[in-house]
Amino acid sequence: MKKQTWIVTGANRGIGLEFVRRLVERGEDVIATARDPRRADELRATGARVQALDIADPASVAAFAKAVADERVDVLVNNAGQGVNSDSLGSIDFEIVRRLFEVNAMGTLRVTEALLPALRNGERKLIVNVTSRMGSIDDNTSGGAYAYRASKAALNMINKCLANDLGREGFTSIVVHPGWVRTDMGGGGAPLSVETSVEGLLQVVDHLDARANGRFFAFDGEEIPW
Ligand code: NAP
Repeated sequence: MKKQTWIVTGANRGIGLEFVRRLVERGEDVIATARDPRRADELRATGARVQALDIADPASVAAFAKAVADERVDVLVNNAGQGVNSDSLGSIDFEIVRRLFEVNAMGTLRVTEALLPALRNGERKLIVNVTSRMGSIDDNTSGGAYAYRASKAALNMINKCLANDLGREGFTSIVVHPGWVRTDMGGGGAPLSVETSVEGLLQVVDHLDARANGRFFAFDGEEIPW
């Protein structure tokens, strides 16, 4: 496969770091972002080009977009995200609700909009938004986790809008669920390793065609209901 330029956000640990490792290993040109690159030793060790980006900070997003404006970016992986699972009805912390919307929904949209010039320069024109099955309304049978679920449901809607708005330019924009993965967010009791999750996600992403635009896939290729 021809070498492509990928951007992966939130790449200093967890799923993002594994994405970058795999992509660099197979010879892709990878721009990997971290909120604080000075504290991203494992990421720098991959050989990816490391840039600073806080997706919830408009000035940081603008500076990053400027730095990559002349690149031909083929694939944007909007992986950066935050999650907490502790907000149940009666004890909702609205600061956390606000923060998760700012990061997971608004931050992802802000980054995507800011990177459009670089993505329009690219050939693949693929946007991969890392959401969660917990953002599926159909699949919600247990309630709770208001902030995380709602912020990821908002991201799912943002993806559908991007698919409609950019599809006519040849873009494909999808949301993916990585599974429940052993990371700082997923915790030690999660069933999946980052290796298994990212291997599956790359299989999904590598085999997409235009019919995938706007759809919601799990790491194992299953299509998730909205
Ligand atoms: P993680 O280990 O907690 O890593 C999250 C990454 O996002 C870190 O690099 C973190 O950077 C970055 N990040 C957080 N806020 C950011 C911001 N404002 N700007 C830029 N980067 C930011 O989580 P993970 O498990 O790898 O999760 C990756 C993605 O998968 C997330 O979108 C998450 O919602 C989704 N997901 C995970 C699971 C799971 O079971 N793990 C399940 C479903 C979906 P810092 O180190 O600076 O905080």
